Amino acid sequence: MLTTAWRSWLCLSLVFMGLHVAAILLDTTGAGLLNYPFLIADPLIALVAIWRLASGSRSTVLIAWMLLGAGLLIDCAGTVSAAWADAVMHSSPFVADLSGFLYLAYGIAVIAALALPDRPGLVRRLAWIDVVQCILAAFLLYIAVFSAVPFLDKTVLPVSSERLIELLNCENLALLSIATLRVMGRSHSPQRAAFDRAALLFLMLFAVTSAIYNKLGLDSGFVPTLVPVMLDLSFLSLLFLRAAKPDPEPQPEQTRRPLTLLVDGATPAFFTLLLMWLSMSIVNEKFDAGAIAMTIALALMVVRSAITESHHLEAQDALALARDRLLHLTLHDDLTEIANRRAFQNQMAEQWNDPGRRGGLLALLLIDIDHFKTINDRLGHDSGDTCLRMVARALDRTLSKADGTVFRYGGEEFAALLPGATIARAGQIGESLRIAVAQLAIPNRTATGDRVTISIGIAAGRYGRGSSSRLIASADRALYEAKAGGRNRVTIDREPAES
Ligand code: GH3
Ligand code: MG
Ligand code: MG
Repeated sequence: MLTTAWRSWLCLSLVFMGLHVAAILLDTTGAGLLNYPFLIADPLIALVAIWRLASGSRSTVLIAWMLLGAGLLIDCAGTVSAAWADAVMHSSPFVADLSGFLYLAYGIAVIAALALPDRPGLVRRLAWIDVVQCILAAFLLYIAVFSAVPFLDKTVLPVSSERLIELLNCENLALLSIATLRVMGRSHSPQRAAFDRAALLFLMLFAVTSAIYNKLGLDSGFVPTLVPVMLDLSFLSLLFLRAAKPDPEPQPEQTRRPLTLLVDGATPAFFTLLLMWLSMSIVNEKFDAGAIAMTIALALMVVRSAITESHHLEAQDALALARDRLLHLTLHDDLTEIANRRAFQNQMAEQWNDPGRRGGLLALLLIDIDHFKTINDRLGHDSGDTCLRMVARALDRTLSKADGTVFRYGGEEFAALLPGATIARAGQIGESLRIAVAQLAIPNRTATGDRVTISIGIAAGRYGRGSSSRLIASADRALYEAKAGGRNRVTIDREPAES
């Protein structure tokens, strides 16, 4: 079933092409002049389609559409110039003129669109290279069409229309190949992929219809009625895409496919290749201009790859920095800025399973602030937070001197790992932690005293013996005893954790 948009496209196209056929049949001049209004209208209709297809596109895709639109405008200017030459100047159809140059120059904007990488940061940095490449391409095309160096040679020697058509066909074929490659590479961005598909459809129809049109025009000087009408098709195809426009924002794939990356990276080189080919095609006649253009084209490619590489390295550095920051965030506690429970679990698992540490001593301390809730209740949550930060800093300072690590285990509880510590040594360190916190003298009047204190439960074990959760349970038991025994004290669990 045809949708309404589809049906409108079909009607519009049939009416337009029907009028075109009628105009040709009614043309009594015999010179096919009534063709021109239609051939001028073609790219303008396509421009309207492009305008609507491009709306809402991301910056790089929008630039690609704009370049394609610029190409169509140049093509339109070529037809206007051809009409002028035919109707007013009555110029010879057998040599190239301004229209021929413009028909070729259309391809410069199109290749710039196809070669545009789908990376906004890179496009901005490489924009000047693209502009220089476009100017260089126009310069070379001028020499190829008029056998004269712009601004230097006064007299021009336009090439034959046979040669011009050869150039046009080569250009169309090159554009078609790049567009095919682009579509095969299936862009990561759905919007860019839609642009590539549209460009391929248009270029395919345009290459075939204009090749037939030019060939017949050149061979017999007479173009059968339906052939110019075929030219309308390529332009109307863009209008068709507007009718069949898919969901504008489908979700992109998570990662770019290798082929996508390869094509996106390789297509800019085609612009260079085109410049090299054009330089070589004029080098026999204009050696200096050809050699200079070739050198510039190569130099631009070298600069382009240097910029791309530096962009890539910068992106890698930024990524590494972001990854480090993210890792820091996931392993640290926001409030106290010490390592968090996840870091504790990671470190415990890592060390416990490390064959080099197997059988070595490990002491675990579970530390809990006594009557912490009363600080929150009496002085507010902010005071509670300040107390947590002060206690964490005191624990961290004391433990780093003893080669231990402190973690925020949860709420107002902390854990400390002391690799290589005997149970007696862990007891001493626990005591020094208790004293360090008491010395902070943070006021908190409770049954335990007039300042903030901590209770500590200690368990010791050997790496790899039993399970680490047993060690944690053992330290927890000791902490419970310390609380039950009156708080503000260090208690050691005497039961071996590995049993
Ligand atoms: P005990 O001596 O038995 O340990 O008593 P306690 O009051 O210290 O323990 P309890 O478990 O009753 O209360 C702990 C309180 O810690 C409850 C909770 O609101 C508070 N708390 C947990 N995390 C934070 C935090 O990040 N900031 C603040 N200000 N308070 C917190
Ligand atoms: Mg607690
Ligand atoms: Mg507590």
